[in-house]
Amino acid sequence: MFEDKVAVITGASRGIGRALALALAERGADLVLAARDRERLEAVAEEVKARGRKALPVPGDLRREEAVERLRQEALGAFGTVDIVVNNAGVGKYGPLLDFTPSDYDWIMDTNMRASFLVTRAFLPTLLAKGSGDLVFVASVAGLKGLPHEAVYCASKFAQVGFAQALDHELRERGIRVSVVAPGGVRTEFAFGTGRTPDDPRLEGFLHPEEVAEAVVFALSQPPHARVFLVGMRPMSEPL
Ligand code: NAP
Repeated sequence: MFEDKVAVITGASRGIGRALALALAERGADLVLAARDRERLEAVAEEVKARGRKALPVPGDLRREEAVERLRQEALGAFGTVDIVVNNAGVGKYGPLLDFTPSDYDWIMDTNMRASFLVTRAFLPTLLAKGSGDLVFVASVAGLKGLPHEAVYCASKFAQVGFAQALDHELRERGIRVSVVAPGGVRTEFAFGTGRTPDDPRLEGFLHPEEVAEAVVFALSQPPHARVFLVGMRPMSEPL
């Protein structure tokens, strides 16, 4: 389905990003894998290669402009082009607002929004030159709805959804499709140590990262004349 397409996935070292890398590799895509943890990225690259596809791990902190520029150069140097860009890297912290420091704010906003801006900006000229391509944002239900103890995370995810919605209007006529996937709780290492723990009983009922990856695949699999702007996905265990 994605034979010879090149996909860049941020936050590909684990969780949803890893699951999506494997799902796209199984369908014929080559992968550029970005996150900070070199060892884990290399392990995911091996899993992609075991599925018969190419994988380029590019370690770096995507809050930083130089790291994103290196990602762009290495991706285009290795593959010559990019077809799909998935802004998935993200962090969160849960708790009452007064427990948040300005550096918590910067960490969350910069990872969830600034990195989305930098990565999109880095690859957009390539997509525009081709007149086609997909930009995907793995946002959250917290980007559609304000939730208690999630004010800063919600702000970052609302920002990401607004950014995506504006780009949908700006880029649709130039052949670029923008999709947002907004899951509820997903069983990953997300926010471990900042509001969730591995033995949190809620994890049991959460979505699996592979299920969220399939929602991204659904958006990416539409025929060229169709676009899925928003996939909202929640576990049965969560109320609306
Ligand atoms: P996860 O397992 O914690 O994965 C997060 C990924 O982001 C990791 O690969 C991490 O890699 C990467 N990352 C974090 N900071 C980074 C930085 N500064 N630069 C580059 N990469 C960075 O969490 P997940 O559940 O898969 O989360 C993926 C996305 O889904 C996030 O945007 C999250 O907000 C969203 N989401 C998650 C849930 C949930 O309940 N899990 C629900 C809704 C939405 P390194 O640490 O190696 O850098």
